Amino acid sequence: MMPYGLMNKLEFRFGNALSFSFDIQHADSNSLARVGTINTPHGPIQTPAFIPVGTKATVKSVLPESMKDLGAQALLSNAYHLYLQPGPDVLDEAGGLAKFMNWPGPTFTDSGGFQVLSLGVGFKKVLAMDAQTTRHDDVIAGNKDRLAHVDDEGVTFKSHLDGSMHRFTPEVSMQVQHQIGADIMFAFDECTTLHNTRPYQELAMERTYAWAIRCLDEHKRLTQERVGKPYQALFGVIQGAQYEDLRKKAATDLGSLESNGQSFDGFGIGGALDKGQLGRIVSWVNQILPENKPRHLLGIGAPEDLFVGVENGCDTFDCVLASRIARTSAVYTMEGRFNLSNSRFKRDFTPIDSQCDCYTCTHYTRAYMHHVFRGKEILSATLATIHNERFIVRLVDQMRQALLDGNFADLKADFLGRYLHRSGQARD
Ligand SMILES: [Zn+2]
Repeated sequence: MMPYGLMNKLEFRFGNALSFSFDIQHADSNSLARVGTINTPHGPIQTPAFIPVGTKATVKSVLPESMKDLGAQALLSNAYHLYLQPGPDVLDEAGGLAKFMNWPGPTFTDSGGFQVLSLGVGFKKVLAMDAQTTRHDDVIAGNKDRLAHVDDEGVTFKSHLDGSMHRFTPEVSMQVQHQIGADIMFAFDECTTLHNTRPYQELAMERTYAWAIRCLDEHKRLTQERVGKPYQALFGVIQGAQYEDLRKKAATDLGSLESNGQSFDGFGIGGALDKGQLGRIVSWVNQILPENKPRHLLGIGAPEDLFVGVENGCDTFDCVLASRIARTSAVYTMEGRFNLSNSRFKRDFTPIDSQCDCYTCTHYTRAYMHHVFRGKEILSATLATIHNERFIVRLVDQMRQALLDGNFADLKADFLGRYLHRSGQARD
């Protein structure tokens, strides 16, 4: 591991590439998986890659130097949160998201669609990856105060910070994301849930398509207007929930969409993703999307799901889970996921994961982690987040290497055999 001071000097510089490109170095003959490089104005991303989430331009409790050190190649922030605070104009004035947060590499922002629409339905239900529940549009908001309303033009929503009213349209989302200045942005889409009815899914998809055209047009206008800024790539978002025909239609329509000579630079696969059908949904879409453009699987980051995403042709992934569960003392290990607060770790002087090479595992014991969690020390969040992010980043890096070595299936069987088996036993 390099000392931080030295690493700052060597690594904290921007890449030379001024534009955006994607090169595929290897395509797996047994699956849809591929190994490639996404080149951005802030440097390359070797894919498949896991992109840690720094929602409000910070990965909670961890320095950007530590994120770089643990192997993160890029970070993803949230347009909705940055729009509300500090405001996109502040990031623009600061020189863009990467510079603002002292992150030396590529950045992503999501469009805000997911977060804004989540206000209307409640985060938990949107995130629930389970289709085995009632499907009716009326159940979505339940008795909650509905904070977002969708119409054909855009979404009107109430800030979760101060209750003030705001409106996002495809144009506003593009303006906000251009000001934030991430290398990769997502088109503004209507994100549905597994609870929506089929007719509503169809309506939402039509809207997402109409909004995609408006995003491309506004993106082109802003790219031309903002002369001298690094190129920002725009990814279209494939919706369609669990329906094969809708997913395929979305992939066909958005994959070939061109408006005024502008097409998408890549694609995000989003919306309601039923965990049990994740592989099928992703393969429907990726068999249709243009092969030469990168594909990002939105909001997916559990180890078992990452294997499914990679073998079905996704190149990048983001998920807030690794850091979020770390703050509750839950950690990923080769022995499965477990909770460091458990009293069985009070005198366990081994690392969280003996095979992990992260800063936490090479300097601290489970007993110490147990102590800082039980004492509610702030350091607990920092150390656990470093471990979890390293674990997931490294796992996807290992998948990349396994694809190059031709033994992806072995890695998957070996990892999941241990991880899932022991997760079932050790979870507490
Ligand atoms: Zn570790």
